[in-house]
Amino acid sequence: MVQFTGEAELGHPYWWEAAPPRSAEDPLPDRCDILVIGAGYAGLSAAIAAHDAGAKVAVVDASDPGAGASSRNGGMFGAHPRLSWTQLSKRFGSDVADGVFAEAAPALDWAKALIGTEKIDCDLQQTGRMQLAWTPQHAQGQRTLVRAVSEKSCVAVQTLCETDFRQEIGTKKYHGAIMFPQHCGLHPAKFHGGLRRAVEARGVPLTGQAEVTHLRRDGHRFVAQTPKGKVTADKVVLCTNGYTTRAFRWHLARVFPLPSYLIATEALPPNLIGHLAPGRRMMVETRARHSYFRISPDGTRILWGGRESMRPLHMREAARRLHATMTEIWPDLRDVKLSHAWWGNTGYSFTHMPHVGDDRGLHYAMGFSGSGTVMAPYLGAKAAWQAVGDPRGETAYTAMNFTRHILHPFARPHFLYAADVWYRTVVDRLDNWRAG
Ligand SMILES: Cc1cc2nc3c(=O)[nH]c(=O)nc-3n(C[C@H](O)[C@H](O)[C@H](O)COP(=O)(O)OP(=O)(O)OC[C@H]3O[C@@H](n4cnc5c(N)ncnc54)[C@H](O)[C@@H]3O)c2cc1C
Repeated sequence: MVQFTGEAELGHPYWWEAAPPRSAEDPLPDRCDILVIGAGYAGLSAAIAAHDAGAKVAVVDASDPGAGASSRNGGMFGAHPRLSWTQLSKRFGSDVADGVFAEAAPALDWAKALIGTEKIDCDLQQTGRMQLAWTPQHAQGQRTLVRAVSEKSCVAVQTLCETDFRQEIGTKKYHGAIMFPQHCGLHPAKFHGGLRRAVEARGVPLTGQAEVTHLRRDGHRFVAQTPKGKVTADKVVLCTNGYTTRAFRWHLARVFPLPSYLIATEALPPNLIGHLAPGRRMMVETRARHSYFRISPDGTRILWGGRESMRPLHMREAARRLHATMTEIWPDLRDVKLSHAWWGNTGYSFTHMPHVGDDRGLHYAMGFSGSGTVMAPYLGAKAAWQAVGDPRGETAYTAMNFTRHILHPFARPHFLYAADVWYRTVVDRLDNWRAG
Protein backbone atom coordinates (compact mmCIF):
# COMPACT_ATOMS: atom_id res chain seq x y z
CA MET A 1 0.00 0.00 0.00
CA VAL A 2 1.23 3.47 -0.84
CA GLN A 3 2.36 5.55 2.16
CA PHE A 4 2.96 9.26 2.41
CA THR A 5 5.44 11.20 4.54
CA GLY A 6 3.93 13.29 7.32
CA GLU A 7 4.34 16.58 5.46
CA ALA A 8 2.90 15.29 2.13
CA GLU A 9 0.25 17.60 0.72
CA LEU A 10 -1.74 15.95 -2.05
CA GLY A 11 -1.95 18.09 -5.18
CA HIS A 12 1.06 20.26 -4.28
CA PRO A 13 3.86 19.88 -6.89
CA TYR A 14 7.33 18.98 -5.61
CA TRP A 15 8.69 21.84 -7.75
CA TRP A 16 6.72 24.44 -5.81
CA GLU A 17 8.90 23.84 -2.71
CA ALA A 18 11.68 25.76 -4.47
CA ALA A 19 9.68 27.96 -6.87
CA PRO A 20 5.96 28.40 -6.10
CA PRO A 21 3.80 30.45 -8.49
CA ARG A 22 3.51 34.09 -7.34
CA SER A 23 0.60 36.44 -7.82
CA ALA A 24 0.95 39.15 -10.50
CA GLU A 25 -0.64 42.46 -9.67
CA ASP A 26 0.34 44.80 -12.52
CA PRO A 27 -2.62 46.98 -13.52
CA LEU A 28 -4.11 46.18 -16.92
CA PRO A 29 -3.23 48.76 -19.55
CA ASP A 30 -6.16 50.17 -21.57
CA ARG A 31 -4.34 49.52 -24.83
CA CYS A 32 -1.45 47.52 -26.22
CA ASP A 33 -0.16 46.29 -29.56
CA ILE A 34 -0.06 42.64 -28.54
CA LEU A 35 -2.12 41.04 -25.79
CA VAL A 36 -0.74 37.67 -24.72
CA ILE A 37 -3.33 35.43 -23.06
CA GLY A 38 -1.80 32.76 -20.81
CA ALA A 39 1.43 33.15 -18.81
CA GLY A 40 2.99 29.69 -19.09
CA TYR A 41 6.18 29.05 -21.09
CA ALA A 42 4.48 29.83 -24.41
CA GLY A 43 2.91 33.11 -23.29
CA LEU A 44 6.00 34.43 -21.49
CA SER A 45 8.24 33.55 -24.40
CA ALA A 46 5.75 35.21 -26.79
CA ALA A 47 5.85 38.34 -24.62
CA ILE A 48 9.67 38.46 -24.69
CA ALA A 49 9.77 37.96 -28.49
CA ALA A 50 7.09 40.58 -29.22
CA HIS A 51 8.60 43.13 -26.83
CA ASP A 52 12.09 42.67 -28.26
CA ALA A 53 10.64 43.14 -31.77
CA GLY A 54 9.41 46.59 -30.68
CA ALA A 55 5.76 45.93 -29.75
CA LYS A 56 3.94 47.25 -26.70
CA VAL A 57 2.89 44.05 -24.95
CA ALA A 58 0.66 43.03 -22.02
CA VAL A 59 0.20 39.52 -20.54
CA VAL A 60 -2.87 38.26 -18.68
CA ASP A 61 -3.49 34.95 -16.96
CA ALA A 62 -6.65 33.44 -15.48
CA SER A 63 -4.67 32.24 -12.46
CA ASP A 64 -1.29 33.06 -10.91
CA PRO A 65 1.27 32.91 -13.73
CA GLY A 66 2.82 29.45 -13.78
CA ALA A 67 -0.07 27.68 -12.07
CA GLY A 68 -0.74 25.78 -15.33
CA ALA A 69 1.40 22.96 -16.71
CA SER A 70 4.58 25.04 -16.89
CA SER A 71 5.40 24.64 -13.18
CA ARG A 72 4.00 21.12 -12.83
CA ASN A 73 5.66 19.08 -15.54
CA GLY A 74 8.41 16.45 -15.40
CA GLY A 75 11.15 18.84 -16.52
CA MET A 76 12.22 16.62 -19.43
CA PHE A 77 13.64 19.06 -21.90
CA GLY A 78 13.83 17.85 -25.49
CA ALA A 79 12.17 18.30 -28.85
CA HIS A 80 11.30 15.29 -30.89
CA PRO A 81 8.11 15.10 -33.00
CA ARG A 82 5.48 12.76 -31.55
CA LEU A 83 4.60 11.44 -35.01
CA SER A 84 7.04 9.57 -37.20
CA TRP A 85 8.20 11.12 -40.48
CA THR A 86 5.94 8.70 -42.38
CA GLN A 87 2.88 9.56 -40.28
CA LEU A 88 3.54 13.29 -40.70
CA SER A 89 4.11 12.90 -44.40
CA LYS A 90 0.87 10.93 -44.90
CA ARG A 91 -1.10 13.56 -43.03
CA PHE A 92 0.47 16.82 -44.11
CA GLY A 93 2.77 15.99 -47.05
CA SER A 94 6.47 15.29 -47.23
CA ASP A 95 7.52 18.97 -47.28
CA VAL A 96 5.84 19.59 -43.93
CA ALA A 97 7.29 16.36 -42.51
CA ASP A 98 10.77 17.41 -43.68
CA GLY A 99 10.25 20.88 -42.20
CA VAL A 100 9.08 19.60 -38.80
CA PHE A 101 11.98 17.14 -38.54
CA ALA A 102 14.45 19.81 -39.64
CA GLU A 103 13.22 22.11 -36.83
CA ALA A 104 13.67 19.59 -33.98
CA ALA A 105 17.37 20.20 -33.30
CA PRO A 106 17.25 24.01 -33.84
CA ALA A 107 14.23 24.26 -31.49
CA LEU A 108 16.18 22.56 -28.69
CA ASP A 109 19.25 24.74 -29.34
CA TRP A 110 17.06 27.86 -29.40
CA ALA A 111 15.46 27.01 -26.05
CA LYS A 112 18.86 26.25 -24.48
CA ALA A 113 20.14 29.59 -25.80
CA LEU A 114 17.11 31.37 -24.30
CA ILE A 115 18.02 29.96 -20.88
CA GLY A 116 21.60 31.14 -21.42
CA THR A 117 20.88 34.68 -22.67
CA GLU A 118 18.24 35.30 -20.00
CA LYS A 119 20.60 33.80 -17.38
CA ILE A 120 17.91 31.49 -16.05
CA ASP A 121 19.08 29.32 -13.18
CA CYS A 122 16.87 26.24 -13.61
CA ASP A 123 19.18 23.28 -12.91
CA LEU A 124 19.57 22.57 -16.63
CA GLN A 125 21.62 19.37 -17.03
CA GLN A 126 22.38 17.56 -20.28
CA THR A 127 21.37 14.16 -18.95
CA GLY A 128 20.23 12.61 -22.23
CA ARG A 129 16.83 10.96 -22.57
CA MET A 130 16.40 7.22 -22.77
CA GLN A 131 13.31 5.75 -24.41
CA LEU A 132 12.68 2.29 -22.97
CA ALA A 133 11.03 -0.43 -25.09
CA TRP A 134 8.30 -2.32 -23.23
CA THR A 135 7.99 -5.15 -25.78
CA PRO A 136 10.37 -6.76 -28.32
CA GLN A 137 8.15 -5.25 -31.05
CA HIS A 138 8.67 -1.79 -29.57
CA ALA A 139 12.44 -2.37 -29.61
CA GLN A 140 12.22 -3.31 -33.30
CA GLY A 141 10.18 -0.15 -33.98
CA GLN A 142 12.84 1.92 -32.19
CA ARG A 143 15.51 0.72 -34.61
CA THR A 144 13.36 1.97 -37.52
CA LEU A 145 12.83 5.26 -35.68
CA VAL A 146 16.57 5.77 -35.18
CA ARG A 147 17.18 5.27 -38.90
CA ALA A 148 14.40 7.71 -39.88
CA VAL A 149 15.42 10.38 -37.37
CA SER A 150 19.06 10.19 -38.40
CA GLU A 151 18.10 10.46 -42.09
CA LYS A 152 15.61 13.30 -41.74
CA SER A 153 17.03 15.51 -39.00
CA CYS A 154 20.15 16.61 -37.15
CA VAL A 155 18.77 15.15 -33.90
CA ALA A 156 21.36 12.88 -32.32
CA VAL A 157 19.85 9.50 -31.44
CA GLN A 158 21.36 6.06 -31.00
CA THR A 159 20.30 2.51 -30.20
CA LEU A 160 21.89 1.29 -26.99
CA CYS A 161 23.40 -2.18 -27.04
CA GLU A 162 22.26 -4.63 -24.36
CA THR A 163 25.35 -4.05 -22.16
CA ASP A 164 25.15 -0.26 -22.31
CA PHE A 165 21.48 -0.12 -21.57
CA ARG A 166 21.66 -2.55 -18.64
CA GLN A 167 24.26 -0.21 -17.10
CA GLU A 168 21.83 2.71 -17.31
CA ILE A 169 18.92 1.33 -15.31
CA GLY A 170 18.53 -1.29 -12.58
CA THR A 171 15.66 -3.36 -13.95
CA LYS A 172 15.24 -6.19 -16.45
CA LYS A 173 11.72 -5.12 -17.42
CA TYR A 174 12.60 -3.46 -20.71
CA HIS A 175 13.50 -5.04 -24.05
CA GLY A 176 15.78 -2.35 -25.41
CA ALA A 177 16.42 1.38 -25.41
CA ILE A 178 17.37 4.31 -27.55
CA MET A 179 19.08 7.47 -26.35
CA PHE A 180 18.71 11.13 -27.29
CA PRO A 181 22.02 12.34 -25.81
CA GLN A 182 21.32 16.06 -26.29
CA HIS A 183 18.09 16.07 -24.34
CA CYS A 184 18.21 17.59 -20.87
CA GLY A 185 16.53 17.73 -17.52
CA LEU A 186 15.63 20.94 -15.72
CA HIS A 187 13.59 22.31 -12.83
CA PRO A 188 10.39 23.34 -14.62
CA ALA A 189 9.13 25.86 -12.05
CA LYS A 190 12.52 27.58 -11.86
CA PHE A 191 12.51 27.74 -15.68
CA HIS A 192 9.08 29.38 -15.57
CA GLY A 193 10.24 31.76 -12.80
CA GLY A 194 13.24 32.79 -14.92
CA LEU A 195 11.07 33.51 -17.96
CA ARG A 196 8.77 35.54 -15.75
CA ARG A 197 11.70 37.60 -14.43
CA ALA A 198 12.80 38.22 -18.05
CA VAL A 199 9.32 39.56 -18.86
CA GLU A 200 9.25 41.72 -15.73
CA ALA A 201 12.74 43.09 -16.44
CA ARG A 202 11.44 44.35 -19.79
CA GLY A 203 8.67 46.28 -18.06
CA VAL A 204 5.91 44.22 -19.70
CA PRO A 205 2.77 44.34 -17.49
CA LEU A 206 1.78 40.91 -16.17
CA THR A 207 -1.68 40.55 -14.62
CA GLY A 208 -2.87 37.41 -12.86
CA GLN A 209 -6.43 36.43 -11.86
CA ALA A 210 -7.51 38.07 -15.12
CA GLU A 211 -9.25 35.40 -17.16
CA VAL A 212 -10.30 36.63 -20.58
CA THR A 213 -13.98 35.78 -20.42
CA HIS A 214 -14.90 37.39 -23.71
CA LEU A 215 -12.88 38.50 -26.74
CA ARG A 216 -14.60 40.60 -29.40
CA ARG A 217 -13.45 42.23 -32.59
CA ASP A 218 -13.80 45.98 -32.86
CA GLY A 219 -12.85 46.89 -36.42
CA HIS A 220 -9.23 45.78 -36.84
CA ARG A 221 -8.71 45.55 -33.10
CA PHE A 222 -9.66 43.21 -30.26
CA VAL A 223 -11.31 44.03 -26.96
CA ALA A 224 -10.63 41.51 -24.19
CA GLN A 225 -12.89 41.45 -21.17
CA THR A 226 -11.44 40.30 -17.83
CA PRO A 227 -12.63 40.60 -14.21
CA LYS A 228 -9.97 43.31 -13.81
CA GLY A 229 -11.19 45.40 -16.75
CA LYS A 230 -10.92 45.65 -20.54
CA VAL A 231 -7.85 45.77 -22.77
CA THR A 232 -7.86 46.84 -26.42
CA ALA A 233 -5.15 45.23 -28.54
CA ASP A 234 -4.19 45.23 -32.22
CA LYS A 235 -3.29 41.54 -32.07
CA VAL A 236 -3.77 38.70 -29.63
CA VAL A 237 -1.49 35.70 -28.99
CA LEU A 238 -3.42 32.89 -27.31
CA CYS A 239 -1.22 30.54 -25.25
CA THR A 240 -3.69 28.63 -23.09
CA ASN A 241 -2.96 25.00 -24.16
CA GLY A 242 -4.53 22.46 -21.74
CA TYR A 243 -6.26 25.20 -19.73
CA THR A 244 -8.13 26.81 -22.65
CA THR A 245 -11.51 28.15 -21.50
CA ARG A 246 -14.91 28.38 -23.13
CA ALA A 247 -14.26 31.94 -24.34
CA PHE A 248 -12.17 30.26 -27.08
CA ARG A 249 -14.51 27.66 -28.50
CA TRP A 250 -12.73 27.25 -31.83
CA HIS A 251 -9.49 26.34 -30.01
CA LEU A 252 -11.27 24.28 -27.36
CA ALA A 253 -12.64 22.08 -30.14
CA ARG A 254 -9.07 21.37 -31.28
CA VAL A 255 -7.12 20.93 -28.08
CA PHE A 256 -8.38 18.89 -25.15
CA PRO A 257 -7.08 18.69 -21.57
CA LEU A 258 -5.57 15.32 -20.75
CA PRO A 259 -4.47 14.97 -17.11
CA SER A 260 -0.97 13.77 -16.34
CA TYR A 261 0.05 12.77 -12.81
CA LEU A 262 3.36 12.76 -10.97
CA ILE A 263 4.69 11.48 -7.65
CA ALA A 264 7.93 12.21 -5.80
CA THR A 265 9.47 9.74 -3.36
CA GLU A 266 10.92 10.80 -0.05
CA ALA A 267 14.70 11.44 -0.14
CA LEU A 268 16.46 8.13 -0.84
CA PRO A 269 19.94 6.87 0.14
CA PRO A 270 22.48 7.71 -2.61
CA ASN A 271 23.43 4.05 -3.05
CA LEU A 272 19.79 3.12 -3.79
CA ILE A 273 19.51 5.86 -6.43
CA GLY A 274 22.85 4.71 -7.85
CA HIS A 275 21.53 1.14 -8.10
CA LEU A 276 18.14 2.05 -9.68
CA ALA A 277 19.23 4.66 -12.19
CA PRO A 278 23.03 4.79 -12.39
CA GLY A 279 22.86 6.73 -15.68
CA ARG A 280 20.59 9.44 -14.14
CA ARG A 281 18.90 9.96 -17.51
CA MET A 282 15.46 11.30 -18.28
CA MET A 283 13.49 8.09 -18.96
CA VAL A 284 10.32 7.47 -20.94
CA GLU A 285 8.56 4.18 -21.66
CA THR A 286 7.03 3.11 -24.97
CA ARG A 287 4.01 1.64 -23.10
CA ALA A 288 0.61 3.16 -23.92
CA ARG A 289 0.21 4.40 -20.34
CA HIS A 290 3.39 6.30 -20.98
CA SER A 291 5.33 6.29 -17.73
CA TYR A 292 8.15 8.84 -17.55
CA PHE A 293 10.60 9.12 -14.70
CA ARG A 294 13.79 10.77 -13.56
CA ILE A 295 15.96 11.64 -10.59
CA SER A 296 15.24 15.05 -9.01
CA PRO A 297 17.81 17.74 -9.96
CA ASP A 298 19.39 17.53 -6.46
CA GLY A 299 19.89 13.78 -6.98
CA THR A 300 17.86 12.69 -3.95
CA ARG A 301 14.51 11.30 -5.14
CA ILE A 302 12.67 9.57 -7.92
CA LEU A 303 9.98 11.53 -9.75
CA TRP A 304 7.58 9.22 -11.54
CA GLY A 305 4.83 10.35 -13.89
CA GLY A 306 2.28 8.87 -16.19
CA ARG A 307 -1.08 9.19 -17.80
CA GLU A 308 -2.71 6.91 -15.25
CA SER A 309 -6.15 7.83 -16.50
CA MET A 310 -7.56 9.97 -19.27
CA ARG A 311 -10.22 11.21 -16.91
CA PRO A 312 -9.63 13.16 -13.71
CA LEU A 313 -8.77 10.80 -10.84
CA HIS A 314 -8.73 11.45 -7.13
CA MET A 315 -5.12 12.35 -6.27
CA ARG A 316 -4.81 9.48 -3.76
CA GLU A 317 -5.95 6.94 -6.40
CA ALA A 318 -3.60 8.43 -9.02
CA ALA A 319 -0.71 8.18 -6.53
CA ARG A 320 -1.63 4.56 -5.78
CA ARG A 321 -1.57 3.66 -9.49
CA LEU A 322 1.72 5.48 -10.13
CA HIS A 323 3.31 3.84 -7.09
CA ALA A 324 2.16 0.42 -8.35
CA THR A 325 3.69 1.05 -11.80
CA MET A 326 6.92 2.33 -10.25
CA THR A 327 7.31 -0.70 -7.96
CA GLU A 328 6.54 -3.04 -10.86
CA ILE A 329 9.77 -1.69 -12.43
CA TRP A 330 11.68 -1.17 -9.18
CA PRO A 331 10.36 -3.52 -6.42
CA ASP A 332 13.04 -2.07 -4.08
CA LEU A 333 10.84 1.02 -3.75
CA ARG A 334 7.87 -0.91 -2.34
CA ASP A 335 8.23 0.47 1.22
CA VAL A 336 9.41 3.91 0.23
CA LYS A 337 7.05 6.77 1.15
CA LEU A 338 5.88 9.49 -1.20
CA SER A 339 6.51 13.12 -0.32
CA HIS A 340 4.39 14.65 -3.13
CA ALA A 341 1.68 13.71 -5.61
CA TRP A 342 0.23 16.16 -8.10
CA TRP A 343 -1.21 16.54 -11.54
CA GLY A 344 -1.66 19.01 -14.39
CA ASN A 345 -3.37 19.30 -17.75
CA THR A 346 -1.49 18.54 -20.92
CA GLY A 347 -3.15 20.10 -23.98
CA TYR A 348 -3.63 17.36 -26.56
CA SER A 349 -4.40 18.04 -30.19
CA PHE A 350 -6.07 15.46 -32.43
CA THR A 351 -2.93 15.39 -34.57
CA HIS A 352 -0.69 14.81 -31.47
CA MET A 353 1.35 17.78 -32.71
CA PRO A 354 1.58 21.42 -31.62
CA HIS A 355 -0.02 24.06 -33.81
CA VAL A 356 0.77 27.71 -34.56
CA GLY A 357 -1.44 29.91 -36.66
CA ASP A 358 -3.85 32.81 -36.75
CA ASP A 359 -7.32 33.89 -37.65
CA ARG A 360 -7.27 37.56 -38.70
CA GLY A 361 -5.02 38.76 -35.90
CA LEU A 362 -5.93 36.13 -33.32
CA HIS A 363 -2.69 34.14 -33.17
CA TYR A 364 -2.19 30.94 -31.19
CA ALA A 365 0.44 28.40 -30.14
CA MET A 366 -0.95 25.28 -28.46
CA GLY A 367 -1.53 21.51 -28.63
CA PHE A 368 1.88 20.57 -27.20
CA SER A 369 0.48 17.12 -26.43
CA GLY A 370 2.60 16.50 -23.36
CA SER A 371 5.92 17.73 -24.83
CA GLY A 372 6.11 21.47 -24.27
CA THR A 373 9.16 22.41 -22.21
CA VAL A 374 11.03 23.20 -25.44
CA MET A 375 8.21 23.51 -27.97
CA ALA A 376 5.97 25.86 -25.93
CA PRO A 377 8.58 28.62 -25.54
CA TYR A 378 9.85 27.99 -29.09
CA LEU A 379 6.43 28.14 -30.75
CA GLY A 380 5.17 30.88 -28.40
CA ALA A 381 7.98 33.07 -29.79
CA LYS A 382 7.11 32.00 -33.36
CA ALA A 383 3.45 33.02 -32.83
CA ALA A 384 4.54 36.42 -31.46
CA TRP A 385 6.91 37.02 -34.37
CA GLN A 386 4.11 36.12 -36.79
CA ALA A 387 1.86 38.62 -34.98
CA VAL A 388 4.38 41.45 -35.40
CA GLY A 389 5.24 40.44 -38.99
CA ASP A 390 8.81 39.37 -38.16
CA PRO A 391 10.24 36.80 -40.62
CA ARG A 392 11.62 34.79 -37.69
CA GLY A 393 8.02 33.60 -37.23
CA GLU A 394 8.37 31.20 -40.14
CA THR A 395 7.89 27.57 -39.06
CA ALA A 396 6.72 24.30 -40.60
CA TYR A 397 4.21 23.99 -37.75
CA THR A 398 2.03 26.70 -39.34
CA ALA A 399 1.43 24.50 -42.36
CA MET A 400 -0.28 21.71 -40.40
CA ASN A 401 -4.05 21.73 -40.50
CA PHE A 402 -5.36 22.19 -36.92
CA THR A 403 -8.15 19.65 -37.10
CA ARG A 404 -11.06 19.17 -34.72
CA HIS A 405 -12.90 16.00 -33.86
CA ILE A 406 -16.51 15.91 -34.94
CA LEU A 407 -17.70 14.87 -31.46
CA HIS A 408 -15.47 17.19 -29.48
CA PRO A 409 -15.97 19.20 -27.22
CA PHE A 410 -19.68 18.43 -26.86
CA ALA A 411 -19.11 14.76 -26.09
CA ARG A 412 -15.83 15.23 -24.20
CA PRO A 413 -16.58 13.16 -21.06
CA HIS A 414 -17.85 10.20 -23.11
CA PHE A 415 -15.01 10.49 -25.57
CA LEU A 416 -12.36 10.42 -22.79
CA TYR A 417 -14.20 7.63 -20.96
CA ALA A 418 -14.20 5.51 -24.13
CA ALA A 419 -10.52 6.25 -24.79
CA ASP A 420 -9.63 5.39 -21.18
CA VAL A 421 -11.44 2.04 -21.34
CA TRP A 422 -9.79 1.26 -24.69
CA TYR A 423 -6.24 1.95 -23.42
CA ARG A 424 -6.71 0.20 -20.09
CA THR A 425 -8.52 -2.94 -21.26
CA VAL A 426 -7.04 -3.46 -24.71
CA VAL A 427 -3.80 -1.57 -25.42
CA ASP A 428 -2.19 -1.94 -21.96
CA ARG A 429 -3.10 -5.63 -21.70
CA LEU A 430 -1.85 -6.33 -25.21
CA ASP A 431 1.42 -4.55 -24.40
CA ASN A 432 1.82 -6.57 -21.20
CA TRP A 433 1.10 -9.83 -22.99
CA ARG A 434 3.69 -8.97 -25.67
CA ALA A 435 6.21 -7.98 -22.98
CA GLY A 436 5.96 -11.55 -21.69
C1 LIG B 1 2.11 16.60 -15.25
C2 LIG B 1 2.74 17.08 -16.55
C3 LIG B 1 3.99 16.60 -16.90
C4 LIG B 1 4.60 17.06 -18.07
N1 LIG B 1 5.89 16.69 -18.34
C5 LIG B 1 6.54 17.22 -19.41
C6 LIG B 1 7.90 16.95 -19.62
O1 LIG B 1 8.57 16.28 -18.81
N2 LIG B 1 8.48 17.46 -20.76
C7 LIG B 1 7.79 18.24 -21.64
O2 LIG B 1 8.36 18.67 -22.66
N3 LIG B 1 6.50 18.57 -21.42
C8 LIG B 1 5.86 18.11 -20.32
N4 LIG B 1 4.58 18.46 -20.06
C9 LIG B 1 3.92 19.42 -20.97
C10 LIG B 1 4.35 20.87 -20.70
O3 LIG B 1 4.33 21.14 -19.31
C11 LIG B 1 3.37 21.82 -21.42
O4 LIG B 1 3.32 21.47 -22.78
C12 LIG B 1 3.79 23.28 -21.33
O5 LIG B 1 4.01 23.66 -19.99
C13 LIG B 1 2.69 24.15 -21.95
O6 LIG B 1 2.99 25.50 -21.70
P1 LIG B 1 1.90 26.59 -22.07
O7 LIG B 1 2.52 27.90 -21.77
O8 LIG B 1 1.42 26.36 -23.45
O9 LIG B 1 0.64 26.28 -21.13
P2 LIG B 1 0.45 26.37 -19.54
O10 LIG B 1 1.73 26.43 -18.79
O11 LIG B 1 -0.50 25.29 -19.17
O12 LIG B 1 -0.24 27.79 -19.35
C14 LIG B 1 -1.51 28.09 -19.88
C15 LIG B 1 -2.04 29.25 -19.08
O13 LIG B 1 -3.19 29.79 -19.75
C16 LIG B 1 -4.01 30.36 -18.75
N5 LIG B 1 -5.35 30.57 -19.31
C17 LIG B 1 -6.22 29.66 -19.80
N6 LIG B 1 -7.34 30.24 -20.25
C18 LIG B 1 -7.20 31.57 -20.03
C19 LIG B 1 -8.02 32.70 -20.27
N7 LIG B 1 -9.23 32.58 -20.84
N8 LIG B 1 -7.59 33.93 -19.90
C20 LIG B 1 -6.36 34.07 -19.33
N9 LIG B 1 -5.53 33.04 -19.10
C21 LIG B 1 -5.93 31.79 -19.44
C22 LIG B 1 -3.96 29.33 -17.63
O14 LIG B 1 -4.32 29.92 -16.39
C23 LIG B 1 -2.49 28.90 -17.67
O15 LIG B 1 -1.69 29.58 -16.72
C24 LIG B 1 3.93 17.99 -18.92
C25 LIG B 1 2.66 18.45 -18.57
C26 LIG B 1 2.07 18.01 -17.39
C27 LIG B 1 0.71 18.54 -17.00
